[in-house]
Parts: sequence; structure tokens; C-alpha cells
Amino acid sequence: MSRRTEKSKQLYQRTLNLLIEGGSSSSRGPLNYGEYPLFMQRGSGSRLYDADGNEYIDWMMGFGALPLGHAHPDVARAIADAASNGAHFATATEIEVEVAEMLRALVPNAERVRFANTGTEAVMAALRLARGYTGRPKIIKFEGHYHGWYDDVLVSSNPVTATVVEQASGSIRVVDSLGLNQHALEDTIVVPWNDLEALRRAIENHPGQIAAIITEGVMANMGVIPPAEVYLQGLEKLARRNGILFILDETVTGFRIAPGGCQQYYKLSPDLVTLGKALGCGLPVAAFAGRAEIMQALAWGGVLHYGTHNASRIGLHAARASLRKLTENHCAAFQHIWRVAERLRSGLVEIFQKRHVSAIVQGVGPMFQVMFTERKAIRDFREFCRYVDRKAYQRFVLKLFEFGVYATPAATLHWIVTLAHTDADVDLTLAAAEKALDAIAGAES
Ligand code: PMP
Repeated sequence: MSRRTEKSKQLYQRTLNLLIEGGSSSSRGPLNYGEYPLFMQRGSGSRLYDADGNEYIDWMMGFGALPLGHAHPDVARAIADAASNGAHFATATEIEVEVAEMLRALVPNAERVRFANTGTEAVMAALRLARGYTGRPKIIKFEGHYHGWYDDVLVSSNPVTATVVEQASGSIRVVDSLGLNQHALEDTIVVPWNDLEALRRAIENHPGQIAAIITEGVMANMGVIPPAEVYLQGLEKLARRNGILFILDETVTGFRIAPGGCQQYYKLSPDLVTLGKALGCGLPVAAFAGRAEIMQALAWGGVLHYGTHNASRIGLHAARASLRKLTENHCAAFQHIWRVAERLRSGLVEIFQKRHVSAIVQGVGPMFQVMFTERKAIRDFREFCRYVDRKAYQRFVLKLFEFGVYATPAATLHWIVTLAHTDADVDLTLAAAEKALDAIAGAES
């Protein structure tokens, strides 16, 4: 194999005694990438180039932060123009008004908007707002859902062993990190997802105590697991009936599943929505938005939300350029990404079937995950933990790298299709998948 990654290896060696796990997030280092990660240097459209000059078709797309692909000319120009007039003012700006207007037009319940920098921050603020508005202390989150690295939600968002699942009586409650504020999770109730009965019981057990239910619209941090039929609608009704706010975390699904996210796609009416990733088109822009009456509780610092970098000018210029592109010609971009994703998904399924590889491809539109499993579908966190072979997935993806295809090597994450991806990218990826499976089968025999 002619592909060399010497420079990545050398760069990784430079990080030893300097950075932790090669970079700035555990998910980018040897945990997922094996001996050393690939150091990426340049991106253009659907392609990513590493430090050794190897080219990859990128299906990870900055964990979903790049709805138009890499270095889209409109976005690059918007960033350069904005930067040449001053990076950041931390004052009120017109671009903030414009992007907020765009969000309100796209996201059904976004009557009021507040900008932040990351999904984690947007979730933190939304939860505080829910507690401040309702005067109640507790929140409900679901097994296997990830909402950022904030203390209150760092429970049961990582996979657990099959034994933990088998021995569970009631909800699975596993703290995800050392060092959390000891009391942070006392008010966090964990409930299995896609199970309305379990949710109803949790609510009944804490009358008048629950401020909010926070949920992803599509589970995107345990492979990709869609909501069961009418589950989210049922959740919404239970929340309404009990004076609990419904927070829809659209950090991943926003500007991806549909212009108005899961809220539009599944016809939901959340009280608050959190947005991030795709919004900034590569720059750290996030937002939370929702019903005017609730958002108004932020006024005059009632429920406090500050931030030097909130509503970053450059980020909002990128967001405006990206939202314009995504919504032009009656949102044609969404038809493109759904169509390309469907071709890629069905192509992969065909390859696995033809070769009798036990793997499924599960997702919603432009976000999907390959799951190595004997099961026909994975419907919740517990099934994911019990039945998905995460190592087999990692082996497959690390092998794909050798054939010029890049996807996340983390089985818990997913593949993302963007406006930059083409039918040719799909064909090349499917050919690479065949070669990767051949190479794996060859190594095993
Ligand atoms: N919510 C969800 C559903 C996410 O997937 C993520 C990140 N993967 C976050 C929140 C946190 O976003 P960020 O990484 O921008 O802090």
C-alpha cells in the first residue's frame, strides 16, 4: 500500500509531553484512531487532506459542523470580509439581527433567539432558563443521549458494557466523568428513551419537581437511532400536561434533517430548542431559541447568560452565508443531501449483504451510522450497548482511511452527508468499502 502517514506520526510524537492524547478532545486521539491520529491540514468541498498530502472523501465533516463541506467559497468570502472589518466587538451588531431573523423564519418555535458559542453552552443556558422560568429543580434526560460536557447532563451518555445492561433494574445511571460537582446530578433523572411508559412513571414519581425534559430529536451519539413512531409527540404531550418544558436539542439535527430541524420534520412544538454545529458552518456559533414568554426570563440578567464571544461577528457572517446557500431555490440543498445519503446508505447495505457481513446502516436522511450487529435494527441505548460490535466498526473505518475515505472511527457517532458530496463521492466510497472489507477478510483468513 503506497499511502504513507509519516508526518502524522511525527506530529503525534511532537504532542507527547505537550498535548493530551494528541490534541484537544479525547475523541480525536488514540482512543478512536489507534496508534496515532491523522493530522489534517486542508479541506476543500468533500475532500480533506492530511499532513502527508493524502486525500480523503470526508464523511465526518467536522462532527457535522460543515453543512456545505469544506471551504465553501461563499462562506470563505464571508469570513474574510468580516475579519477585515474587525474580528469581534462584543456589542450589538446588525448581523446578529439578520441571523436571528433567519432562524425565526426557519425554526418553527424560535420566537426569540439567543446566540452562544457551542452546543454545550446552549444546553447549559436552556436548562438554567427552564429552571429559572418554572422555579423547579429537576430535569429529565435519556439513556444514551449526549448534550455536551456540562456536569448536569454527564450521565449515561457513554456506552456501558452488556453486563451493566443485563443487570439493570430501572434506569441505567452511569456517571460519565470524574470531577463533576458532587451535587450536579442529584436533580438529573435518567429515563430510557423511546419508552413513553417509563417517562410517564418518572414524571409521576416527581410531581411538580421537573423543570424540563431534554431530548435529542434523533439519537446521534449512540450510532443513529430514530425516534419510535409518535414517541416525541407523546413526550411533548406528557411535558405539556405536567407543566414541564420540552427542550429539543437540535445541535446535531438542526439545519440537517430539514431546514427547521426535527421540529419541522416530526411536527413538534418544543418550548426551547438548542442549535449549534451546522449553524456556524465551521465556526463556533450556537443558539438557543423558543417561546417568547420563556426566553423573556433572560431579560435584565434575570436568568443569567453572558459571554464575551456570544454572537461572534465572523461566525454569524459565516452562518448567514451558509443559511442563504442552504435555503436558496426552495431549500434544494436538503433534497440533494437526502438523495446522496440514500444512495450511499443503500450502496453500503448492498455490499454488506452481498458479502454476508453482519452490519446494518441506520439513520435519518443525511445522518446515518454503520453498525456491525446481527440485529435487524438498533432501537435504543441498551440494544446499542449489547449488540453493536464497536471494534469491528473501528476496524472497518481505519481500513477505509487506507483507501481514501474518512469517516468517524467512533461507533457511537455517525456519517454526515453535505451539499459538497457528489454521486462520484458515493461511487468512490462504495468501491473503497469493498476494498476495505476484502482487506479485513484477507487479514482474518
Ligand atoms: N448536544 C448534542 C446532541 C450533541 O451531539 C453535542 C455534540 N456532539 C452537543 C450537544 C454539544 O455540542 P458542542 O460539542 O458544540 O459543545
